Amino acid sequence: MGSLSFNTFSPLDPQSFSEESKMVVDFIADYYKNVEKYPVQSQVDPGYLMHHCPDTAPYCPEPLETILKDVSDSIIPGLTHWQSPNFFGYFQANASTAGFLGEMLCTGLNVVGFNWIASPAATELESIVMDWVGKMLMLPPSFLFSGGGGGVLHGSTCEAIICSLAAARDKVLKKIGHHKITKLVVYGSDQTHSTLQKASKLVGIPTSNFRSLPTSFSNDFALCPDDVRTAMEEDIGAGLVPLFLCATVGTTSSGAVDPLEALGHVAKDFKVWLHIDAAYAGSACICPEFRHHLNGVELAHSISMNPHKWLLTNMDCCCLWIKEPKLFVDSLSTAPEYLRNNASESKKVIDYKDWQIALSRRFRAIKVWVVIRRHGLDNLMFHIRSDVNLAKRFEAHVATDPRFEVVVPRRFALVCFRLRPREEGEGTELNSRLLMAVNGSGAAFMTHAVVGGIYIIRCAIGSTLTESRHVDSLWKLIQEKAQLVLQEPCLALEED
Ligand code: PLP
Repeated sequence: MGSLSFNTFSPLDPQSFSEESKMVVDFIADYYKNVEKYPVQSQVDPGYLMHHCPDTAPYCPEPLETILKDVSDSIIPGLTHWQSPNFFGYFQANASTAGFLGEMLCTGLNVVGFNWIASPAATELESIVMDWVGKMLMLPPSFLFSGGGGGVLHGSTCEAIICSLAAARDKVLKKIGHHKITKLVVYGSDQTHSTLQKASKLVGIPTSNFRSLPTSFSNDFALCPDDVRTAMEEDIGAGLVPLFLCATVGTTSSGAVDPLEALGHVAKDFKVWLHIDAAYAGSACICPEFRHHLNGVELAHSISMNPHKWLLTNMDCCCLWIKEPKLFVDSLSTAPEYLRNNASESKKVIDYKDWQIALSRRFRAIKVWVVIRRHGLDNLMFHIRSDVNLAKRFEAHVATDPRFEVVVPRRFALVCFRLRPREEGEGTELNSRLLMAVNGSGAAFMTHAVVGGIYIIRCAIGSTLTESRHVDSLWKLIQEKAQLVLQEPCLALEED
């Protein structure tokens, strides 16, 4: 006890908070300055970090300088540099100064607004920004608080879909009886993100009741409303209960857009919950020229999109809107004694804990608020449009070289292309070797997908630092590597 009274330990001393935070900010600024110099995809071997770290946690405090040196020496080599201008993989996680500042405020204030009383501003700002973003997307008023609906910020689409599915499930089970959970059926396409399957499993839908309907080249990998109708009719014929349909605006593999309006009518006919997953391409719909991709949204029950992908908002941030927020509360609320308070009981406030999985929650709204205010809608639209223009530039490069083809029409800022196979069956090997050669060079990073049985290379443009010169260099690199790959024989010929 005695020794404690002499301890000067002060983990949130404002002076050192300021000094050390500045050191970290400068460190990150340097990282951004140099990020182009690092191999985009980490080149380390599995387990590499064990050789850089002691077996046990330090007993005594260490200086920040030492820790930052270890970040440089041991951590940075093990990073795939998502903020590199040469990162073209997956879908980007675009950072911005405003996103970082908002994240700092969120982290620094460190409030936990699970209910209104726990931090009224956190809840109220969230409702305000959700209506702001909803209006930026021109969502129907029924999704906005001002129109009887409302929005919530989650960390990921996965959480958003779990909550929407849980709300849909409980709404139906209330009518047909809880024992009928094994009858409920969930529908998506073979292009729907795997998050839907995970969410279905997590809310108790039998795996045999998950329908992944086939798509094809003939309609650019969009979900066919007639197929959905047929599947639902068949399921009803088999004594099952269609529950939930997920339509996507901007699929992960190829950026396909499902026909929302027609799917909405099918969902309405079968009294099925329609969710729209616009995780990636939702951001583009703030631009009037892309907004038509959301036509039909008025027929949906819920819609989600991720500003952390394409709206200059640092991780993590997923916007979810619902027309009947009461259904979230019915499904997700808990009311332990230790959280009881007059504000909640007045029913005049939102308790966001009842709109999500966890109790605790981050003050993400302040981040979105800063992002929107610092950039303005004008610059956010500029950002989307310049990425789309860079994608068009890349697409034009591909078109100049007859050895290559764009496999599915470019959507948004995603170009799916491949080296044309010279003989049947070599497409997969040829293109996977090309991708490995590009990524192995460290100079750029892309990822792949398989659509309609064809292995494609995805060039997803959207890293905040990417400029036209990076797109041009990427194309040059691809051509160089293609030259080498085409010189080597393909070993395993497969079906294409
Ligand atoms: N839906 C689509 C269309 C996506 O592209 C992704 C991720 O890329 C997700 C869902 C998953 O999003 P999250 O990681 O936020 O759960």
